[in-house]
Amino acid sequence: MKIVKTIKIDADKCSGCRACEVICAAYHAEPKYSIVNPARSRIRVFRDEENDLFVPILAGEYTEAECPGRMTTVIGGKEYGECSFCRSSCPSRDLFKEPDSGLPLKCDMCGEPPLEEPMCVKWCLTDALTYVEKEEEEEEEEKEEEKEKAVEFLVKKYGLKEVEDAITQISRG
Ligand code: SF4
Ligand code: SF4
Repeated sequence: MKIVKTIKIDADKCSGCRACEVICAAYHAEPKYSIVNPARSRIRVFRDEENDLFVPILAGEYTEAECPGRMTTVIGGKEYGECSFCRSSCPSRDLFKEPDSGLPLKCDMCGEPPLEEPMCVKWCLTDALTYVEKEEEEEEEEKEEEKEKAVEFLVKKYGLKEVEDAITQISRG
């Protein structure tokens, strides 16, 4: 296990002020702080003022394919459809895309060198965003576990001897 820092989101504390969007966009402008365009922010706040619901969403990975499994989320008895809380930049919407170039935007936790605290966390006065530590499995440990699972599966399917022979052949090149 290793300790990693991550941003924890507590939507119950979000007031919808959008300070996080503003500072993220300004911090990533070239030169820094020269333009403030929240469309360039890597965090966007989903807003449903009627139901007093504000959900900060950090931009995740770009995906080339539109998601086929659109889902519905129910909060407080109200249904929110399709892409409302999705973190991905994808072909079906403009969210998390650089407005001029269309290039995908992804949260970089504020880039290099690492900041003591990400900008959006620093500017969030309600503590809806906090910078916390969490335990994460080491990548090597994960790979080892995946390998063990794969071997287990193959042994079940093809038998131990077949798998041992195949591994011997692979290791001989
Ligand atoms: S700065 Fe904090 S309270 Fe304001 S919108 Fe962003 S997450 Fe919500
Ligand atoms: S951590 Fe930095 S890059 Fe990520 S959303 Fe917050 S301000 Fe933007």
